[in-house]
Formats: sequence, C-alpha cells, structure tokens
Amino acid sequence: MSRVYNFSAGPAVLPEEVLKEAADEMLDYNGSGMSVMEMSHRSKEYDDIIKTAEKDLRDLMNIPDNYKVLFLQGGASQQFAMIPMNLMKNGVADYIVTGQWAKKAWQEASKYGKANKIASSEDKTFSYIPDCSDLPIDDNADYVYICENNTIYGTKFKELPNTKGKTLVADVSSCFLSEPVDVTKYGVIYGGVQKNIGPAGVVIVIIREDLITEDVMPGTPTMLQYKIHADADSLYNTPPAYGIYICGKVFKWLKKMGGLEKIKEINEKKAKILYDFLDESKLFKGTVEKKDRSLMNVPFVTGDADMDAKFVAEAKKAGFVNLKGHRSVGGMRASIYNAMPVEGVVALVDFMKKFEAENLK
Ligand SMILES: *Cc1c(COP(=O)(O)O)cnc(C)c1O
Repeated sequence: MSRVYNFSAGPAVLPEEVLKEAADEMLDYNGSGMSVMEMSHRSKEYDDIIKTAEKDLRDLMNIPDNYKVLFLQGGASQQFAMIPMNLMKNGVADYIVTGQWAKKAWQEASKYGKANKIASSEDKTFSYIPDCSDLPIDDNADYVYICENNTIYGTKFKELPNTKGKTLVADVSSCFLSEPVDVTKYGVIYGGVQKNIGPAGVVIVIIREDLITEDVMPGTPTMLQYKIHADADSLYNTPPAYGIYICGKVFKWLKKMGGLEKIKEINEKKAKILYDFLDESKLFKGTVEKKDRSLMNVPFVTGDADMDAKFVAEAKKAGFVNLKGHRSVGGMRASIYNAMPVEGVVALVDFMKKFEAENLK
C-alpha cells in the first residue's frame, strides 16, 4: 500500500489514523457484529455514536448551550436555499460576495427574497476580502451572509464583518475546525464536511436556538426546515449515518491533537512554509492579497499555462496529487487541511524548489 500527498480541495485528505480505525471496525463495530453502515440509526450503538460526535464537537468549538448542532444532508449547497427559506422573515438579506460559493448562495437566496449584494471582490477575480467595517446593511436585513474561507480563490476573512447588529451567517466549509472561533459572534455556522472533517454527504449546521422557528417561507419542504431536524436531534429521518461516524472519529483525533488552538498553530506553520517559499520563488507566485491569505487553500501560478501543466504532471508523478487549480482560475492550488501533515508541505516545497531549479530559464 502506498499513500500519496493529497492536496485536493475536497473531498480531501483525512487523518490516516481515522481511516485505519474505521477499517478495523468495518466488519464488527465495537462487538455489535456489524458495520456502522448496517446499523439502525435508532439503535443504542448509533445513538451513542451521534451523541458522542455532537458532544466532542461542542467541546472542540466551545459551543454554547443556546446553539443547536444539526447533522444534515445535501452538502453545503443545500444550505444556500435552506438559510433564506428559514431565516428570511422580512424577506431581506445582505450578502458579501467573495467568491463562487458566496455568489451561488446569493443567487439562490434571490429566488426567495431580496438578496442584496452589499460588497464584492469580483472586480479583481476575488483575490481579496473587501473592507467590511462600514457596509450599507439594510435595516430590514434578516441576516448578513459570508463565505468565511474562499476555497477556490484562497482568501479568508481575518476579521468578521461589522453586521451592525444583524445576525451573521457563515459558510465555513473549507475552514471548519481549522482554528478556534467565537461561536457567539454568529447566528449560523455551517459547512459541508468533505473539506476538513469527513466524507461528503454530511453538512453540519450550528444554529442559535432563537433562529429555529416554525415561521418559515410558505411551501418550505419538511426536510428543509431547521426546526424539524432540531426537534428530532438530527434523527427526523435516516441521517448520513456512516459519515457522521467518521466525523466523530475526526473530532476525537482533533481532541487528541490538542484541540483547535493546537491545530491552528500547526496550520499556521504549514501555511507559512508554503507562503514563504512563494514569496521568495522566482518561478511560482501566490495569487491573492497577502493580508487575506487562507490557511487552508493556497493557489499559485507560474504565469505560463504550459509550465503550470508541466508542474502539475511532474508533481503527480512524484506523489503530490490534486494540485491543479480550480477550473475557473487555472494554475495550481494546494489545499493543506488539518489532516495534511507538516511533512507533506515540506516535501511539496522541496519538490517545487527542485522543479524551479530545473525549469527557470
Ligand atoms: C465545497 C464548498 C461548497 C459546496 O459544497 P457541497 O457540499 O458540494 O455543496 C460550498 N461552500 C464552500 C466554501 C465550499 O468549499
């Protein structure tokens, strides 16, 4: 067996330890004589799995009691509709558009109400985070929406926007559990787990209780109502049971690593190794404003599409895979999520140095 260094933006690398544990438990989970995949979601064993997962996530993120944790399906994209359907009581929301995911969320919300684009960085291909200290927040806005880490472009909000008292809703898919957060600053924090936590198919929604009401947009499907899932502790219908089990293992892994303060330290170390090299390289360069750089997704280019393609191909041969940039941006992108070890980034930079020496004219 050989494992590569996987720099995929998502689905992405998971801790090897977690995968091994899951493999060990594949045929017989904890003496049950069956796989978690084969188990009733109403069983005692499964109840323990989902409750422990929630508890560990609450510990890791220090989630206050007045927030619910929901394990849902439909990926992050399902939330693009679920959020306006459940939260637009006045029919108005403000969106800060810092990339394709935020743009998609804004477009989707426009179907259900007045979705104002109050700031954007599209003028410079989303290569920065706009100043959000004094935005024209609508008096009637039910919430202000951000995508906190822009997976495709590699930017991150280092400071949350000034929402002028309005509820903040954040898509954290690609920075989930990468560093400590103050949950109380948000009304809703949500993310698809396939970037930094687990297998695709699970989306986690952390939502303040007062935002969970029966007063939703007329016609909202039962399955898209937060209250239905909150009242049933995420077991209204069959949840993505196996995926949640893997997420639970990743939460345990993070706790063992020392929690989010510690993982932040490691993530900063990894990002610094790569960014420092990009800043000194004569062949490669980063594509976003330094102050807004993501700790998780690092896009870079050579400025020559043929050279980019050659790099991606040679890197792949050397065991560094999924480095091709998003189809909308080109170039390269290294996603260095929690489960990417420091050695992986060091090895990548060594490879880039070697490639540079061989290819710089
Ligand atoms: C990947 C991603 C999405 C889309 O996730 P799906 O689970 O495929 O719907 C949304 N937002 C962000 C920030 C992402 O990185």
